[in-house]
Amino acid sequence: MNPERQADYDVIAVGAGFAGLALIHYAREAGLSIRVFDKGSDIGGTWNWNRYPGAASDSECYYYCLAFSKELLQDWSWSVRYPGWEENLRYMHFVADRCEMWPQIQLNTKIARADFQEDTGLWRIQTEGGEQFTCRYFVSAMGMISEPVIPGVKGMDTFKGPLFHSARWPAGGLDYAGKRVGIIGTGATTVQMLPELARSAASVTVFQRTANFVMPAVQKPMTPEWEREIKAHYDEIIAKCRNHVFGMAFDSPVGRNIADTPPDEVQRILEEHWPRGSFRFCFETFDDLLTNAESNRIVGEFVIRKMLENVRDPDVREMLTPRGYPFFAKRPPLDHGYFEAFNRDNVTLVDIGTREPLVEITETGIRTTKQHFEFDIIVLATGFQAYTGAQEALPIRGRNGLLLKDKWREVSASIMGVFVAEFPNLFMITGPQAPFANLPTSIEQNTIYIVDCIKKMEAEGHDLCEPKRDAEEAWVAHTADIHRQTLMAQGDKVHSWMMGANLEDRKPRVLIYFGGANAYYDKLRESADAGFPEVEFARLAG
Ligand code: NAP
Repeated sequence: MNPERQADYDVIAVGAGFAGLALIHYAREAGLSIRVFDKGSDIGGTWNWNRYPGAASDSECYYYCLAFSKELLQDWSWSVRYPGWEENLRYMHFVADRCEMWPQIQLNTKIARADFQEDTGLWRIQTEGGEQFTCRYFVSAMGMISEPVIPGVKGMDTFKGPLFHSARWPAGGLDYAGKRVGIIGTGATTVQMLPELARSAASVTVFQRTANFVMPAVQKPMTPEWEREIKAHYDEIIAKCRNHVFGMAFDSPVGRNIADTPPDEVQRILEEHWPRGSFRFCFETFDDLLTNAESNRIVGEFVIRKMLENVRDPDVREMLTPRGYPFFAKRPPLDHGYFEAFNRDNVTLVDIGTREPLVEITETGIRTTKQHFEFDIIVLATGFQAYTGAQEALPIRGRNGLLLKDKWREVSASIMGVFVAEFPNLFMITGPQAPFANLPTSIEQNTIYIVDCIKKMEAEGHDLCEPKRDAEEAWVAHTADIHRQTLMAQGDKVHSWMMGANLEDRKPRVLIYFGGANAYYDKLRESADAGFPEVEFARLAG
């Protein structure tokens, strides 16, 4: 090989969460050298950053894990249905330890830029500390929901106490007992955080712009019997995830629609499933909740009635009632005691959507159009720039120095969320226009696909993998076409991150492939089996 094309590593990836760990496994198995960088001081990705009280997975533990090793699946034991961030982090250490992944991981290293080199076909990666590395294949493993959104609220830097985004909860912990806490935002993060904070804070005041549909989580301990049952059926569980529309081990589709079921029977089935908890309520009741507007309206009314039935104050109930958008146009959080928390004397809900908009943050608190609230701590639970944020925050330059962020100004285009035209040898794990699904399932399917592509290149002696522009246009059009047919397309009415409609500086867009995660995984397989027709393989001259 031309010495100019000698790279420090075959593969460099950014992000040492589930995606980074999965990639280490599959890349090493393929005989590739790999280095994974992470700016964090620990592995774990989401679970390293999101250390707020109550942070836990919303997928059930036994399929919220990597499936590449049957031994690991058998040897790890979860303590509860939805593990908290500490347990998830421990699990990821278990994977890294058992698979001896640490030599491939470099922590505390922020990547400052990544540039495709036209002459050598390599990627040059530069760290903030000034180190430079080259690789043949560059992989974004930075996570789908990782780049925080900091709202442009006036006066934010004047507040005297701790003020931070929920995904930057102080790593050493924060003593909030007896303190007055203000939270801006009422998404999945606040739904998890509020009950925990309210237990010991002097007061918690929640500033809500849009009310959410929320389903019960129903946390429970992992019993020895349940664990035995899971471990005896792991192959089936993993197969279920691979074949499910959201990558989860659910028994659906169920073969019935609300539209074809007598109303009494609909209510009976919804009542029966509600206490079971989890996203199963969406998938194991009826098959038309997310596609048929009338069915969605019926289930939406049911959810509102059930979720609010224990909220005592009628005015608070009124404020917590979602209006004007379909169920799931915003990603519904799972409830671990959120609504009951509003019955506490130390919890206040403030409607900044219609009643008293937020004006500014002051030295001592938050001012709305009607009053001033005094706080010791302010948490911005204001969400993330999903799907594109991490890749845009890191300057990634492809052919002719094109910045990925510039390419995505209008449309966050990709081929299956993995390839981007004009960015040769760049791969994304769960990039824009991939499905929204149980993440470990999607991550692993993406990783297998990426490594298969690299294996082909290595075996056949290709230097470049050039995603085809027409394949990208076709995927963008296909994804947009499916998106248009779903009720999730109404997310732009309510700032849904699923359409990037939560960002102040850009237009809503199609970010998610809603054709079903299982259909998407099939497409990945078909593409690999057909020799990756979406990309052109080439050799560099000379
Ligand atoms: P989110 O769902 O995007 O919620 C952000 C909240 O901040 C919304 O209530 C939003 O109000 C509010 N907000 C944003 N900017 C604002 C502004 N300028 N003024 C007032 N309010 C503002 O974010 P999240 O709760 O962090 O959750 C994001 C996603 O992360 C979840 O949907 C989920 O997929 C993932 N997540 C998962 C878990 C889990 O699985 N365990 C836990 C947490 C998060 P509007 O609604 O009016 O925009």
